[in-house]
Amino acid sequence: MGALGGRSHAPNQIVRQVGMLRVQSMKISVAQILGRPGTQKEVPIAASLEGVQGALARISEDPVTGTVKLEAVVEGILVTGRAEATIELECARCLKKFDTRVASEVCDLFVAPGADAPEEDAYRIDGLEIDLEPLLRDVFGLELPLNPVCSKECKGLCAHCGTDLNSGPCDCSDEETDPRWAPLEELKVKLENERIS
Ligand SMILES: [Zn+2]
Ligand SMILES: [Zn+2]
Repeated sequence: MGALGGRSHAPNQIVRQVGMLRVQSMKISVAQILGRPGTQKEVPIAASLEGVQGALARISEDPVTGTVKLEAVVEGILVTGRAEATIELECARCLKKFDTRVASEVCDLFVAPGADAPEEDAYRIDGLEIDLEPLLRDVFGLELPLNPVCSKECKGLCAHCGTDLNSGPCDCSDEETDPRWAPLEELKVKLENERIS
């Protein structure tokens, strides 16, 4: 059993190691600046965020990129900067898949070990390292739209036959539209557009 069992488990172990390396790349040493208020360093970000998703949106596997400044303050380390991620979306009206690149400002405090946190869920410095992964997960989790649309003019799918109305009307579109619902339909489109813009 021994040798054979070991070999069959090897691929899993490799995957797990790759996963750990990826997580480690978001961990940054603050040994040089921690406890020396006023000192700072700049670090580039280039790492994947896995598993950040909503119903119709998710962060792509493309690396999150950007630059952040780590600044030592009395309470810990202040992280400021800007990061960009690719978001994969599915149009809520026509179900077409599309990508968009979003940028987000970062400004958060990592509380020093042993120091009182201003909030219970504050980010904490772990030993001499900060881990940017939870911060970036929170930042880009908020960027995921609940109701993405491929374009404000997207006509969506016919509710009856499923035809993509962006590529032309279907056979049932004329007869199924009850004119009494038209004002409501217009209001719905207007509200959706307002939510997007
Ligand atoms: Zn669409
Ligand atoms: Zn139809």
